[in-house]
Amino acid sequence: MHGKSRKNVAVAIRISGLSNNVHEFQFTAEPSELSLTDQFRENISISTIVDKSPHQIYLKADIKTVGHFQCDRCLEEFREPVDVGCKICYVYNEKDGGAFPPDELQIISPDTVSLDLTEDIRQLITLSIPLKLLCAEDCKGLCPRCGANWNRESCACDNEEVDQRWQGLQGLLHK
Ligand SMILES: [Zn+2]
Ligand SMILES: [Zn+2]
Repeated sequence: MHGKSRKNVAVAIRISGLSNNVHEFQFTAEPSELSLTDQFRENISISTIVDKSPHQIYLKADIKTVGHFQCDRCLEEFREPVDVGCKICYVYNEKDGGAFPPDELQIISPDTVSLDLTEDIRQLITLSIPLKLLCAEDCKGLCPRCGANWNRESCACDNEEVDQRWQGLQGLLHK
């Protein structure tokens, strides 16, 4: 998407030589390593559990960071914790993946040296951004006339028309 020629591997689990057992791996990645937008400025912590058996590798990952977003209503920046997870079952043979939903299944070559999770994690974090960005559910927004932030102050503008619209909206929100 960014036209990068070099593939950035920030988070990878080496599986060649790993015993058939349950293992835990922790990673910390910087937002730039995951090519995230500047909405993400704090480190990303990734905890994984890897259950390796002869025919499959089952991976569970928990990803935590903090997003810095701009409120759609009052335009102030606010922080929002991001806590997402994924489960992936890696199999060497398509027939071994029968019980898993397709979006949790990846087929890998038996020669695979390491599992690159970079792109999976980048997508999970990006998809976690809410469609509607609000600093608070009841954010009052800005005065359309003077720009006062109604969360902090009231203003003397005559917003009767606007007030009526807001009442309608607030009525809906409180149902
Ligand atoms: Zn707001
Ligand atoms: Zn005003």
